[in-house]
Amino acid sequence: MKYLWSFVFSILLLPAIAQGPTAVKGEVVFRNVNVIPMDRERVLPNQTVVVKDGKITYLGEAKNARFGKGATVVEAKGKYLMPGLAEMHAHVPPVDDLEPMKEVLLLFAANGITTIRGMLGHPRHLELRNKIKSGEILGPHFYTSGPSFSGQSVKTPEQAAQMVRQQKEAGYDYLKLHPGLTKETFGAMARTAKEVNIPFVGHVSFDVGVWRAIEAGYSSIDHLDGFIEGLVPGIENMTEQQTGLFGMFVADKADTTQIPRLMQGLKTKNIWVVPTQALAERWFAPLAPDHFSQAPEMVYMAPNVRRNWENSQKNLQANPQYNAARIKDYIQLRRKLILACQQNGVGLLLGCDAPQVFNVPGFSTHHELQYLVDAGLTPYQALQTGTVNVAKYLNQAQYSGTVKVGAVSDLILLAGNPLQSIAQTRQIEGVMLGNRWLPKTYLQQELQKLEKK
Ligand SMILES: [Zn+2]
Repeated sequence: MKYLWSFVFSILLLPAIAQGPTAVKGEVVFRNVNVIPMDRERVLPNQTVVVKDGKITYLGEAKNARFGKGATVVEAKGKYLMPGLAEMHAHVPPVDDLEPMKEVLLLFAANGITTIRGMLGHPRHLELRNKIKSGEILGPHFYTSGPSFSGQSVKTPEQAAQMVRQQKEAGYDYLKLHPGLTKETFGAMARTAKEVNIPFVGHVSFDVGVWRAIEAGYSSIDHLDGFIEGLVPGIENMTEQQTGLFGMFVADKADTTQIPRLMQGLKTKNIWVVPTQALAERWFAPLAPDHFSQAPEMVYMAPNVRRNWENSQKNLQANPQYNAARIKDYIQLRRKLILACQQNGVGLLLGCDAPQVFNVPGFSTHHELQYLVDAGLTPYQALQTGTVNVAKYLNQAQYSGTVKVGAVSDLILLAGNPLQSIAQTRQIEGVMLGNRWLPKTYLQQELQKLEKK
């Protein structure tokens, strides 16, 4: 009834009130814009970029640009145009209702995230993927894993093999692994996955360990899971409770002389790494619970979610094994591992695991970029993890993660140069999502609708 009335009112009021800003469909021209093409570290100053039907049709001097009379011209003097970013450890709500999914998609899009990989699948995500593809639902390009393989969902090798076949058949892009797999269930999963040709990604179970994981050929290992445990001598005599999540309680026991061997293994097997360092820097860090919970972006999360996040942090800090000084060293060791990946040619992909503790979808991807820079990457290298590296990983013909003629027109217009300061990726003036231009005014209006009281 409420919806009916608001519908009637909006019809009645339509001629009387001015319409709010809208998304623009059609040809778009960016004038006088500085382009960050991401093919190498450079800025092309004062360019004209023309976009039509989801592709970049022109990039160059204004005088040679051709576009239709009806084109939307965006005056972008002093601004920067870069490829849209990918979030490779995203979570779309695994529920039966599409509405909460749309909210998350908007949070990503408003933050210039134009591609996401869903890391906990649900049958309705397959439908969502189709609706995004057809343009019925506005959202980033969506790749999705299936429902999780874990100690709970997989009890026998036979069951593991059967689940792989079912998920491949259903059309999921990836298999998502969670903790709790045994050597046997993991082995059956990996063998069947290779047989039917579907990549597996995510956690490394404690029982499996990173060395066996590398041997089995993960497509991507997320959270640096198993890395630190794999460096600790005598790990086979410890329990998962002792080592803590992602080895947080045993970092001081890691033999760092083994890092080159770890990197060699990852590189040889072409295994990509999604660090999700935001988890360590935000959730695990020895900070007061209100350190992040008052940030402006928290307004998009329901109050009970924020309370749960604060409690998760308090509970972790109350663990008798938790020690502030040692956790700081643990975070440093994770940074060192991220930098080692970069320096050894192990492919890094941008991802931060929102909505985990203090990670708001879309916003947290920009924090992750900062954490990569804190780990020692240059801003350009950090941007690569969310653009060209992702294109290489996904290996799709049109998607190059660069700004060039013929490329998919997923773009972010920024107020400042992110190659100089990575924080500039947050100064978003508008987002081009395929064939739709979403100006800042429109994004702000839509974000406001998502604010939770
Ligand atoms: Zn996750």
